[in-house]
Amino acid sequence: MSGIPPVLLDTVADMQSWSVRAREQGRRIGFVPTLGDLHEGHLSLMRRVLEESDRLVVSVFVNPTQFGPGEDYENYPRRLGEDLEKLAELGAAICFAPTVEEIYPPGDTTRVEVNWGEDTLCGAARPGHFAGVCNVIVRLFNVVGPHIACFGQKDAQQVLIIRRLVRALHLPVSLILGPTIRENDGLALSSRNAYLSPEERARAVSLHRALEKAGEGLREGERDPARLAALGEGELADGGVDPEYFAVLDPETLSPPARITGGLVLVACAARLGKARLIDNHVYRIGEDGVHETLLF
Ligand code: AMP
Repeated sequence: MSGIPPVLLDTVADMQSWSVRAREQGRRIGFVPTLGDLHEGHLSLMRRVLEESDRLVVSVFVNPTQFGPGEDYENYPRRLGEDLEKLAELGAAICFAPTVEEIYPPGDTTRVEVNWGEDTLCGAARPGHFAGVCNVIVRLFNVVGPHIACFGQKDAQQVLIIRRLVRALHLPVSLILGPTIRENDGLALSSRNAYLSPEERARAVSLHRALEKAGEGLREGERDPARLAALGEGELADGGVDPEYFAVLDPETLSPPARITGGLVLVACAARLGKARLIDNHVYRIGEDGVHETLLF
C-alpha cells in the first residue's frame, strides 16, 4: 500500500467525534459518499474534493434502502481491502464503512420524503430507489458533518433530487459535481459494467453514442425534444440496445420541454443489458455562443 492508509471508522459515534474534533481544529471537511468498489469515476470526485477541503472522508456503504426487491443488493461488489488501498494512494483521511444497523438502528422508522422527481426515469423502473438514496444521504451528512460533498453527474437524477433535499432541510453542506469519467470508447465507468459479458460490453457503447447523436442534433439546431430523442433511439436500435428510456429533458422539471429555447438540456438514457442496468447522460448548455457540454451545477 502506498501513501498513508485512511483511518477506518465503522461506528456513528466515532465518525461524529472525529468530525467534531476536525471542525474544532478549523478543518474543512470534504465528503464523497459511495457504495464502494471504487473506480476512477469515484476517485475523480475525491480529487475534486481535495482541491476544496483539507480532510477527505469517503463512505463505503452498500445502502439496502436504495435497492429494490430482485435487484443486486446481495451481489453488489464489496471490496473494502482494495478500496482502502486506493484511498491511501489518494490521501483520504477517513474511510467510513458502517454496518447497516449503525445507519438504520433496529426500530428506526423515520423517513424523509422529497416528493419530486422520484417516479420518473430511473425512479419509474426502481420504485423507492431515490427515497432510499435521500434517507441514507441525510443520515450520512448528519454523521460525517461535511462542509462540502461531491457527487457524479453520471447519476444526474440523483444529484437533482439530493439538491432539493439539501435545500429543503437547510442542510449546511455545499454540493459540488464531477463530470462523468468514461472508458476510451465512451462507456461511462460503473461498478455494474463488471456484470457485462464481452458481447454485452460491445453493445454497451451505444448508450454514449446515442447521447452524442442527440447532442449532434442539438448542435445542428434541432430544438424538438421528441425528434432529438428519436435520433438517440435510432442509434440505440442500430447498436442492438433496447432502452428502458431515452429522454430529452429540462433538468429543472425532469420532463421534456415543449420546445428547447435555451439554458440546460439533460439527455439521459437507461438500458438493461443482461444482468446490468446501465445509465448515462449528457448535459448541454444552449447559449448565444452555441451548444456546449456542461455540468448541471
Ligand atoms: P456509487 O458508488 O455508484 O453510489 O457512486 C458514488 C458516486 O460516484 C456518485 O456520486 C456517482 O454519481 C459517482 N460516479 C459513479 N460513476 C461515475 C463516473 N463514471 N464518473 C464520475 N462519477 C461517477
